[in-house]
Amino acid sequence: MGTPSVGIKSFHLDTMNFRYENSYFLGSYMHRKPVLFLDFDRTLFDTDQFYAWLGEDRFGRILGLMGGSIEAPDFSVYLYPDTLAFLKTARKTHRLVLLTYAINTMLQRRKVRDSGIIPLLDDVIISSRDKGIEAKEYLARIGDPGWEHAFIDDAPKNISEMKAVNPDIITLRIERVPLSADAFHGLIHEPDVVVKDLNEVLQHLLKE
Ligand SMILES: [Mg+2]
Repeated sequence: MGTPSVGIKSFHLDTMNFRYENSYFLGSYMHRKPVLFLDFDRTLFDTDQFYAWLGEDRFGRILGLMGGSIEAPDFSVYLYPDTLAFLKTARKTHRLVLLTYAINTMLQRRKVRDSGIIPLLDDVIISSRDKGIEAKEYLARIGDPGWEHAFIDDAPKNISEMKAVNPDIITLRIERVPLSADAFHGLIHEPDVVVKDLNEVLQHLLKE
């Protein structure tokens, strides 16, 4: 490349500069994208279908599953039909961070891993703490460059907690199934957007 009037020396210099810039860009590429924090259950994964598979003795069956006496299902069948296509598209513009709440972290790790989505994610946080605090600490860890970050969750409580700690994060509540009025009781912060599926999330994120 280069023009005929450019000398060999400067051509090399330009090449080196380009390489340097390019590798610098690649090295920090992940940090240059805004973060999209993603809930797992009832956002990416149809937890109610999984519970239906577990049946009435849910806790006994979970013990059997973790202990190996019950053969595990194919967890990928519980991903919503729009989940994989969504992750593949969203990761082009966003750093995808799964932020999932769990008391039983062993089961949650299993669900997340065996659903097959990990290669599409940049980071996975499984926690029993407030999601707002987890997100704030995560952004501090990666060195928040001040992008407009976003968060998707189906639970109004998680949306409210996220907004309370991180007012600048765009919150999207996904309503796969209609919620009862109890789910909104006593909450302070409303989501910025309510969507019915992940395609709508995409439309919203790409609009900004
Ligand atoms: Mg959820």
